[in-house]
Amino acid sequence: MASTTALSPEILAKYEPVIGLEVHVQLQTETKAFCGCSSRFGAAPNTQVCPVCLGLPGALPVLNRRAVEFGALAAMAINCQVRETSIFARKNYFYPDLPKSYQISQFDKPLAEHGWIDVPTPNGSKRIGITRLHLEEDAGKSMHDGFADSRERTYLDLNRCGTPLAEIVSEPDIRTADEAYEYLARLKEILLYTSVSDCNMEEGSLRCDANVSVRLKGAEKFGTKAEVKNVNSFRFVRAALEYEIARQIEVLESGGRVQQETRLWNANEGRTYSMRSKEQAHDYRYFPEPDLPPLVVSAAWQHEIRANMPELPEARRKRMVADYDITEQDAQVLTGTREFADQFEAAAKATKSPKRVANLVQGELMGRLKAAGLELTQSPISMRGIAQAADLTESGELSSKMLKQLFDHCFETSEDFPVVYEREKPQQISDPAALETMIDEIIAANPKQVEQYRGGKKTVAAFFVGQVMRLSKGQANPALLNELVTKKLDA
Ligand code: ADP
Ligand code: MG
Ligand code: ZN
Repeated sequence: MASTTALSPEILAKYEPVIGLEVHVQLQTETKAFCGCSSRFGAAPNTQVCPVCLGLPGALPVLNRRAVEFGALAAMAINCQVRETSIFARKNYFYPDLPKSYQISQFDKPLAEHGWIDVPTPNGSKRIGITRLHLEEDAGKSMHDGFADSRERTYLDLNRCGTPLAEIVSEPDIRTADEAYEYLARLKEILLYTSVSDCNMEEGSLRCDANVSVRLKGAEKFGTKAEVKNVNSFRFVRAALEYEIARQIEVLESGGRVQQETRLWNANEGRTYSMRSKEQAHDYRYFPEPDLPPLVVSAAWQHEIRANMPELPEARRKRMVADYDITEQDAQVLTGTREFADQFEAAAKATKSPKRVANLVQGELMGRLKAAGLELTQSPISMRGIAQAADLTESGELSSKMLKQLFDHCFETSEDFPVVYEREKPQQISDPAALETMIDEIIAANPKQVEQYRGGKKTVAAFFVGQVMRLSKGQANPALLNELVTKKLDA
């Protein structure tokens, strides 16, 4: 296949990509979908297996109630309608890491359908349809390499067999690689907020297959799609789509036809490879699972499940912008995780200036975290610490230079702000004579404000307190300063 560098912007602009994503997400249950085995990640190979998940003859599956609840909650969070009665089906194929030779999945009657999520694009918000969310079980894992003697062989770990998954299939509504990236980011955020999955991509808790085709702009019919499998980060999904879009356009421009096929993304080479063509495609021979009754999620049960719905990220951002007088961008950063947003809100309620807290997070915290290679959740400075710092700067007790030094200190010693502040805070000036000299200086320099005060506008006292605090570089004893300012002004 030719390289994909030859395409001019003019040629690219003739075509429109069409993208639909299939996302598998591992549900955070204690035990597997149809047996009592632990579904914890990382155990020694083949220690979490039993006759049911090994598919031994005569073993019968029993559905995990929590898996249904997590699946339904996720479905509701992405605006799907949950079906009262859904049907499990056998999806048959042979693979070494699938000892039963079939996966229990759902086919024509999935748990939920007809959903959507809104995704930000350069032209505003765009609604991406979600075709369905269905439940299924995972297969085991084949390990092909990474052996010290580099001899080729394959080991099987069947611990993952029978782990509950939700598969979420989008409509072919996505039009660019960036939109695909945003869709995945939003979806992951919602799944994390609802706590149905840890969405850990390194551990395979969230996996994405990307379907993509191109068509001439204005054409009605979709082009032939390729499905790119095995893409294990959102950045790679975007890169794989960009590559694949250019590759397909190149095929069409040179008079060829795009083959319907499954392709694999190779991250090292930055390209996709054909894995199997349509002719080699699986025929799954779906049929209703005879060992499980229809799954009934009654209206009452749905109601119970919906009662566990947390406030979702998009709604939360809107409310926080209104409640705390912060910007959309602030809200975006502050809702990065549900825990962080909770901490911010707790701090915001305890501070005089939520906006200043938001500014400190973006201006002073994020940069330091990035430089230290830390996640938000690993920050040495807590939200409570940030709130205290915000109040101290607001009152003038802490200069911004001092604040920066104290924050640096927190990162050096991995201590929270209140601890460091208590130890390092500037020496207070509590000598009345020294404070009075400063107050006199400020009073002399601001005759207009003095006049206002003496005219009855008592709130102007705060202005003088702030000015003296600045003059003292935040070192004036605040209580004494307040007292002396009022005394002087009233004199
Ligand atoms: P298949 O039967 O091959 O799995 P589906 O109809 O189930 O295909 O669709 C799988 C995914 O591919 C869905 O996300 C869907 O939106 C997307 N899709 C379907 N047709 C196209 C197309 N022509 N181009 C891009 N994506 C498509
Ligand atoms: Mg499919
Ligand atoms: Zn088991």
